[in-house]
Amino acid sequence: MYLTQGLHRAVQQHPERVMTIYRDRRRTYAEAAQRIAALAGALRGLGVGDDEPVAILSLNSDRYSEFLLAVPWANAVINPVNIRWSPAEIAYSLTDSDSRVLFVDEAFAPMVAAIREQSECLRTVVYCGEGLVPESMLDYEELVAASDPIPDARRGGHAVAGVFYTGGTTGFPKGVLLSHANLQTSILGGLATGLFDKDSRILHATPMFHLADHFLWACGVSLGGTHVIVPAFDPPAVLAAIQEHRVTETVLIPIMIQLLADHPAAAEHDLSSMRHLFYGGAPISRAVLDRAVAAFPHARFVQAYGMTEVAAIATMLTPGDHTDTLLGTAGRALPHSEVRIVDAEDLEVPRGTVGEIVVCGGHVMLGYLNKPEETAAVLRDGWMHTGDGGFMDDAGYVHVVDRLKDMIITGGENVYSAEVENAISAHPAVALCAVIGIPDPTWGERVHAVIVCRAGRTVTFEEIREHTKALIAGYKVPRSIEITESLPLSGAGKILKRALRKQFWNESERQVS
Ligand code: ATP
Ligand code: MG
Repeated sequence: MYLTQGLHRAVQQHPERVMTIYRDRRRTYAEAAQRIAALAGALRGLGVGDDEPVAILSLNSDRYSEFLLAVPWANAVINPVNIRWSPAEIAYSLTDSDSRVLFVDEAFAPMVAAIREQSECLRTVVYCGEGLVPESMLDYEELVAASDPIPDARRGGHAVAGVFYTGGTTGFPKGVLLSHANLQTSILGGLATGLFDKDSRILHATPMFHLADHFLWACGVSLGGTHVIVPAFDPPAVLAAIQEHRVTETVLIPIMIQLLADHPAAAEHDLSSMRHLFYGGAPISRAVLDRAVAAFPHARFVQAYGMTEVAAIATMLTPGDHTDTLLGTAGRALPHSEVRIVDAEDLEVPRGTVGEIVVCGGHVMLGYLNKPEETAAVLRDGWMHTGDGGFMDDAGYVHVVDRLKDMIITGGENVYSAEVENAISAHPAVALCAVIGIPDPTWGERVHAVIVCRAGRTVTFEEIREHTKALIAGYKVPRSIEITESLPLSGAGKILKRALRKQFWNESERQVS
């Protein structure tokens, strides 16, 4: 199993099919494969050796997608950098992974000087953006034009294919080493769902550094689908791209779904081509999902649950499972994956009992880069300990209740922040909310809600209490609220609860089970 195998198949079977659409550029599979082989030759020419990580810091583009295949073609390792990081964090990841070559586009070229100053290993910068090539950087197009194509290394199996950093939601991001087999296993599991085919026209609006997007990219390439690429998530651009290119599939994280569904222009666009809307990466409230279903009446929704450490995906709530009773679940294990719920002693708990979700299969990471202790802590007997609390019902559906670190213990009772958020989000004035535990002298912790109201609306503490009391048990009802303009988000668009907790706690002192 190797990362480029889908590309070879697509070139064999559909050479003239359009692989990427970006701005006014369209490239067929045959054309893109040639460029990829030349870019791989260029990487070799730049001195990139076997198993050497090559980094990319760029908004989404067709060149980004070529990079994702040229690097394994050259027998090197992809290191997609989180675009929300500061120069210091980027320099850290380059040093951590020993990436000596970095690709940047126009959005990030201005950061290169600061990155260079702080990174010990950065040697060569390739400009993969539009317009003039900044001084001291190599031109992507010139490299592709001037380099001889090389044969695909076709190295696969347990060799490292990529170092993907975790979202950094609960702490400093960790580099996850994923092999070719890890990634291909997940991709085959995704293809087995039958949700993609050669007519798939996949929109890439979620950042391409994120594995969720890589998953759709790789599934689409394997079948010769077309990839419509927009630089970044921007509701009007996304709505226009769906309409213009008759997009059939995309993956969005819950906050993006919400912004799209609530956007006034949504109703004015023809979104009827959308067949499958994948979402996941964070809990989604029922209220947001209902609004999304109304905005995309033709789409079938697909929820995925997974994490960087399991090459993106472990369980899926398929379109057929989007029924009233199953909607709160993350679906069932895909064919490539096995999921269990265990207690603190790693013993499987009875169905319906909350424990930690653990995952096993060929998609479980090799380990964290340079972090043997952290690796040993989460990878035990081949099972990845996700740090997510959940339970499994009798039919094998996994219910993710909360990250264990976000669970609130108040007066000895466990409160799942996601459940409280779900209840609060059902209030019509609420756009977004985050529930955290804050110190309380009597109860240890108490439930606190941080709320962003919908435009022109507001809500009082009493209203939230009354509203939630009708939906959840008394001890789960917020004891205090705070109205704010926005919530701190990670690079992947997840709410950073540790940032919200910061003013109340010294995070390292907070006891979590
Ligand atoms: P870090 O590990 O650095 O704190 P992160 O966990 O957010 O960041 P990712 O690997 O991108 O980094 O995210 C995986 C996590 O996202 C899961 O462990 C889980 O908490 C959450 N998640 C993913 N899918 C779902 C889902 N469908 N429902 C609820 N939560 C989800
Ligand atoms: Mg994580």
